[in-house]
Amino acid sequence: MATHQHGAIAATDAHTLSGEKETFDLAAGHELRIELDHTTQVAVTVHAGDAEVFGTPLGVGGRTLVVGPQKVAVYTMGGARVEVQGSPEVMYVGEETPMRQYINVHDVLQAQRDACGRGEAGADGALVAPPKVMLVGPTDSGKSTICKVLANYAVRCGSSPLFVDLDVGQGSLTVPGCVSACAVEHPVDVEDAVFPGEPPVVFYVGSASPSENADLYRHCVERLAGVVEERERRDAVAGSSGILVNTMGWVEGLGYELLLHAAEVLKVNTVVVIGQDRLHAQMKKRLGSGSGSGKVAVVKVAKSDGVVLRSKEQRQEARQRRVEEYFYGLRKDLMPVSQTAKIENLEVYRVGGGPKAPRSALPIGATSVSDPLKISKVGDFRDILNCMVAISHASSPEELLNANVAGFIYVQDVDVEKGTVTYLSPRDGALPSTLMLAGTYRTYFD
Ligand code: ATP
Ligand code: MN
Repeated sequence: MATHQHGAIAATDAHTLSGEKETFDLAAGHELRIELDHTTQVAVTVHAGDAEVFGTPLGVGGRTLVVGPQKVAVYTMGGARVEVQGSPEVMYVGEETPMRQYINVHDVLQAQRDACGRGEAGADGALVAPPKVMLVGPTDSGKSTICKVLANYAVRCGSSPLFVDLDVGQGSLTVPGCVSACAVEHPVDVEDAVFPGEPPVVFYVGSASPSENADLYRHCVERLAGVVEERERRDAVAGSSGILVNTMGWVEGLGYELLLHAAEVLKVNTVVVIGQDRLHAQMKKRLGSGSGSGKVAVVKVAKSDGVVLRSKEQRQEARQRRVEEYFYGLRKDLMPVSQTAKIENLEVYRVGGGPKAPRSALPIGATSVSDPLKISKVGDFRDILNCMVAISHASSPEELLNANVAGFIYVQDVDVEKGTVTYLSPRDGALPSTLMLAGTYRTYFD
C-alpha cells in the first residue's frame, strides 16, 4: 500500500524508439532542452564531458531513457557531447540558464549543512542551524525543478535533506490533495522523474486547492512539521541536512498567508524566491527582519527560460495522471484490483462542515458556525463517488486528523440498494484499516 512507486524496470528498449539520432556539442553552461508529450520518449547518451538533468548526473557512455510527458534540460557545467535518439516535440539549446545561480545557492546551503554537522557556531555565537529552505514563486516559475536541483546537489555532497512538498495541486511525491515529505537519499531518477526511496509520509488535505479548507491545510502542514522535528530529534546527522520545501504557485492573498504560515511552523530559515521582485520584497520585509534564531535569509533567483507553461487543463490532466500512476504504475506495471465491500463495514469520514454558507445567507449578526476541522461520518457513499479516499494510520476516529495515511482507494461505484461500494485498490487483499478519510476532488479515468 505504498503511496508511491518507483524503480520499475525499464520495459522499453532501443527497438521501440523511432526517430533520428542527433548529436549536440554543448558549450560550458549551456543546456539542451527536450520537451516530450505522453507518447514519445528519447534516449540520451553522453559521449564526452559532464551532463546532468536537473542535478542528476548522467554518466559518460551511459544511455538514459527519458519517458514522456516530461520536459527536461540536459545541462553541462564544463561542456559535453550528447546524442539524442527519438523525436521530441521540441528540442533546442538554451544558452542562458540560471543554473549557476541555483548552484551558488546550493553551495551556501551545503556550507551550512557541513558547519551544522560539525557543531560549529555561527557569527552570532549560536550553533549553526540546518538549512531549512522554502522555494516560493508563482505558477510555472520552476519551483519543483529547483527543488530537484537543490536536492540532487545535496545528495551528491553526501547529505540527505528531507523534501517537503506542500503543493496539493501539483505535488511530486504522491497523489493530489496531499502534503508529504520524504528523505532524499539518492538523486532523482531521470527516467521517471521521481525521488527514489522510502514511501513518503503523507497527510491528506483531500482537495487540489487549499482554499477549500484552509484550516485543514494549515493543520496538515503543522502535522508534517511535527514529522520534521521528530526526524531532527531522532537523527542529528540526517537532521543537519535540513529540509527543502516545495510550495504551491498561489502567492497572493490567502495563498501568501499560507506560505507565511508554513514558513513559520516549519521553522524555515532560508526562503528562495523565484523571479518575482514583488514577492521577494514582500517576503523580505515580512520575514527577513528577525534576529538570532528567528533570522530568515530571503534570496532571489532568476526564473529559467526553459520552464514550460501549463494551462489549467494541462494541470488538471497532470493530476489525473498522478492518480492513474498511483494505481497502475509509471509504466503500467502495477495491477490494481477492483473490490466490493459492504458499506456498513467501512468507517469513512470527511472533514469540515462542507462549504460554508455565504455571509449573505446567514441571519444578520450571525457568523458561520461550521467548524472547519469537524469530522463527520459519510452517510451516503454517492457523495464520494469518483473520489480518492485515504486509508488512515489512525486507530480511532478522533485520531484521524492527526494521523498520516497508508495509501488510497478510489471509489468506482456505489450500489445503494445492495449497500455496497466498489473501489480500486493498489493491491489485492484486505485493506490495512477500515478507518478512512475521504477527499472532495473528483477524478475520472478508464
Ligand atoms: P507549478 O506552479 O505547476 O508547481 P513549477 O513552478 O513547480 O510549476 P516546474 O514544475 O518546476 O514549475 O516546471 C514546469 C515544467 O517546466 C516542468 O515540466 C519542468 O520539467 C520544465 N522545466 C523546468 N526547467 C526547465 C528547463 N530548464 N528546460 C526544460 N524544461 C524545464
Ligand atoms: Mn511545482
